[in-house]
Amino acid sequence: MKLYNTLTRKIEEFIPIDKNHVKMYTCGPTVYHYAHIGNIRNYIGHDILEKTLSYIGYSVTRAMNITDVGHLTSDSDSGQDKMEVAKKREHKSALEIAKFYTKEFFHDFDLVNCKRPEIVSSATENIDIYIQIIEKLLQDGYAYLSGGNVYFDISKLTDYYVLTNHQEDKMVVGVREGVEVDTKKKNQADFALWFTTSKFENHELVWDSPWGKGYPGWHIECSGISIKYLGETIDIHGGGVDNIFPHHTNEIAQSEAYLGHKWCNYWFHNEHLLDESGKMSKSHGEFLTISLLQKKGYHPLAYRLFCLSSHYRKQLVFSYNNLDRAEITYKKLLRKVKMIQENQEGELQEQLYQQYQTHFQEALEQDLNTANALTVLYDVLKEETLNNTTKLALIQNFETVLSLDLLEREEIEIDDDLKEYIMDKIEKRNQAKREKNYSLADHIRQELLNEGIILKDTKEGTLYEVEKG
Ligand code: AMP
Ligand code: ZN
Repeated sequence: MKLYNTLTRKIEEFIPIDKNHVKMYTCGPTVYHYAHIGNIRNYIGHDILEKTLSYIGYSVTRAMNITDVGHLTSDSDSGQDKMEVAKKREHKSALEIAKFYTKEFFHDFDLVNCKRPEIVSSATENIDIYIQIIEKLLQDGYAYLSGGNVYFDISKLTDYYVLTNHQEDKMVVGVREGVEVDTKKKNQADFALWFTTSKFENHELVWDSPWGKGYPGWHIECSGISIKYLGETIDIHGGGVDNIFPHHTNEIAQSEAYLGHKWCNYWFHNEHLLDESGKMSKSHGEFLTISLLQKKGYHPLAYRLFCLSSHYRKQLVFSYNNLDRAEITYKKLLRKVKMIQENQEGELQEQLYQQYQTHFQEALEQDLNTANALTVLYDVLKEETLNNTTKLALIQNFETVLSLDLLEREEIEIDDDLKEYIMDKIEKRNQAKREKNYSLADHIRQELLNEGIILKDTKEGTLYEVEKG
C-alpha cells in the first residue's frame, strides 16, 4: 500500500515493522468542548486508514489518547489549561467536564461509524509513564528545570525540525502570534514537559512529582501513552495538519531522546475542514457538531460520505449546499442498494467480483483515494453485466471500509425532487451573484419566495426553509 509520509514528504510504500501487524497511534480530542465536524473529519480519515489496513490483511493495534489535562490555550506553553477555561465557563470540575465531553465525542464519533481504537486512554490516567520519561530526559541532559517547570532542551538535538522540513524560521515559538516570550526557557522553542504549580495557582488536577506538585505538558501525554501501550516503536502516528508543529515535532524529540532510537516510521496528517470564512476552530465559539447536523435533519453518514468524496490531504470546504448534495447522493445510494437487496438473483460472478474488488482495493492502496473507491461503488451499482448477487457481495465487501450502513438502513423518505429543484435554483443564484448579475439573483430569490421557499444567506452558505401548508 502507498501512503504519504509527512516525515519524508513523499508517497511511500508502507512497510510495517512486523510483517503482518501494524501499530498505529491517533492523537485524540481535547475534551474541553464538543468536537466540531472538522475534528470528526480527522477521525474519519484515521478510521479509513485503520479499516484499509485491516482490509488488505494486516492486524492493527491502534491507540488514542483523550486530552483531559495540560493542553494550554496557545497550543504551546503559555495561556491557560483549556480544561480550566471550560471549568470557569461551565462551573463544573475538570473531571466532570472531561467526562461529559468525552461521552459527547464518542457519541458523534459513533454516529459517523468510526471504529473505536482498541486502546483509548486519558492523559490523567498515565502520570507514571510521563514521570518516568521526564526523569530519564533530565538524567541524560535533554531536559532542565527552570522556574519550577521542566523543559525539553531542543538545542540538544540536531534534527528537531525534521517533521517540518527544517523550516525553522517559520516555527520559532517566540514570534508566533499570541505566544509570549518565556524567560524561563533557554531557547524559545524549548517546550514544557512538566508544569509545577505555585501555591497561588488554581489548577485543579495536580500530581506529586520529583519536581513538586504539578501537571504534565500536552505533548508528553502522547509519547507516554504510545510507549506505554504500543511499545518502543510504532508504524504510524497521525493527527490533523495543525498537529505537525509543535505537537508532533515535540513528540518525536522527547520520544527519541528517551528511547535512544527512531520511534515512528510514518506520519499521517489530515487536512482541515474549512467553513466559508476559514478554518473551523473549537476556540472560536459557535461551531457545528455531527449531533447538530442530525438535529437539522441531515444523516450523519451523509457527512461521512461528504468527507470520503474528497482526499484526506486536501482541504475541504463545508457548506450546507455541499452537504445537501451529499445527502441527496446518500439517499440515492440507499435506494439503489435497497432495490438490489429486494431483487437478489443469480450466482456469484467470481471473475467480475474479483475485478471490481481489485479496483476498489487499488484505489485505497493509492494513498487512500476514497473518491476513486466510491467511483468503483457507483460503477458496480450501475453496471448491467453484474447480477444482483454479485453486486450485493461487492457492496458488503466495500462496506467493511466505507461503513456507510448501505445494507442496514431502512430507506428514509424525503422529497428529493423538491430538494434537488431548490439546490439547483440556489446554484443558479450563486452563479448570478458571482457574475454580479444581482437582478437575476434577486429574481430567483423572489421566484422561490412565491413558491413558499425562503432563502437565508449564512456564512456556511445559503439555507432554505419551506413554508408549511
Ligand atoms: P483537538 O480536540 O483540538 O485537540 O483536535 C482534535 C483533532 O482534530 C486534532 O488532531 C486536530 O488536528 C484536528 N482538527 C482540528 N481542527 C480541525 C479542522 N478544522 N479540520 C480537521 N481536523 C481538525
Ligand atoms: Zn498527540
